Amino acid sequence: MDHGSASPVDSWVLEAMMPYFDKDIGNPSSLHSSGRKAKRELEAARRNVANLIGAPNPKSIIFTSCATESNNLALRGAAMRYKDKGNHIITTSIEHMSVMNSLKDLQRSGFEVTYIPVDKDGLVSAEQIKNAITEKTILISVMYANGEVGTVQPIREIGEIASDKKILFHVDGTAAVGKVPVNVENEHIDLLAISSNDIYGPKGAGALYVRQGVRILPSMLGGGQESGMRSGSENIPGIVGMGKAAELAMAEMVDNGARLIRMRDRLIDNILKMEYTYLTGSRTKRLPNNASFRFSFIEGESIILQLNDLGITASTGSACSTKTLEPSHVLIAMGLRHEEAHGSLLLTLGRSNTEEDVDYVLGSVPAVVAKLRALSPLYPKK
Ligand code: PMP
Repeated sequence: MDHGSASPVDSWVLEAMMPYFDKDIGNPSSLHSSGRKAKRELEAARRNVANLIGAPNPKSIIFTSCATESNNLALRGAAMRYKDKGNHIITTSIEHMSVMNSLKDLQRSGFEVTYIPVDKDGLVSAEQIKNAITEKTILISVMYANGEVGTVQPIREIGEIASDKKILFHVDGTAAVGKVPVNVENEHIDLLAISSNDIYGPKGAGALYVRQGVRILPSMLGGGQESGMRSGSENIPGIVGMGKAAELAMAEMVDNGARLIRMRDRLIDNILKMEYTYLTGSRTKRLPNNASFRFSFIEGESIILQLNDLGITASTGSACSTKTLEPSHVLIAMGLRHEEAHGSLLLTLGRSNTEEDVDYVLGSVPAVVAKLRALSPLYPKK
């Protein structure tokens, strides 16, 4: 129930990767047949990832090590490349920390960043983004979907605005790609970050889509691999795995999506029957695999530990910011008070989950919540 933090590598993906660790070990830059084979596999993976996001030219896919790197490369690379045109960037207040911290760093280098607020469902308004544009705006960055509360943003609408105004549009697609149809052409996306593990590929691989014609400054300099935007010998096993994962995601998105939605809705409808229990994020504009809640009077960490004892892995807020012990910036941006944001539970479903898993969770969560509330001095005991 915690696929958003880590997903199992698909068995077909693992099988596709294996030869590239010890048999087909060529470097795509080498001229011998082993190198040429690696090059062919690299380009095949590029085509599969391009297909998954509707990119007409596979050359626009730059392989990286993770979505965090892709976001860093996109934001810093675009801002620094186009800084002579302007120094203003627009984003939302619920972005992933890899975007938030990249932008904070750019602010220290003299860029101005406008953080557009979201409504109580975590939705950003395209109109508000449009109104924030100035003649100095060079970049708009909005996540496709928020992995913590599941809300899917009006990306096409924002893309049209950016395209009309000739402003670069960066999208963090990590939580959405492979789960909902993403199309960089129809949605006017110039830069799109993708993670391998979020589509059942291996960790240690990611990609950045860079629209043909868009120039970004590289952050890793060296032998000029990946169109000069990300030097370093390519992680061929990881890239082959990501390519296979993209192919599988494309083939099964519709069927698996429908299955996930059925399980997600069963979780939501039943968990919301409990008192003082609320859904976080939009009920309708929502990722198929995301069921996120908040429970009054209790702490998310306690819920997670109790569920863990029952064999259920779940999350409270984003796995990426648990180190800070601060309440989730996403829930705070959605207008929740600190004590409300602390009682959050995030269930992210995946391919391996079954209806029986859902039954087990539905049998366990109410008991855990009731037990913790019984111990809570805040809970109004009847
Ligand atoms: N963006 C979003 C929306 C995410 O949910 C995550 C975490 N899966 C990331 C970026 C960063 O991904 P990674 O940790 O794989 O770099």
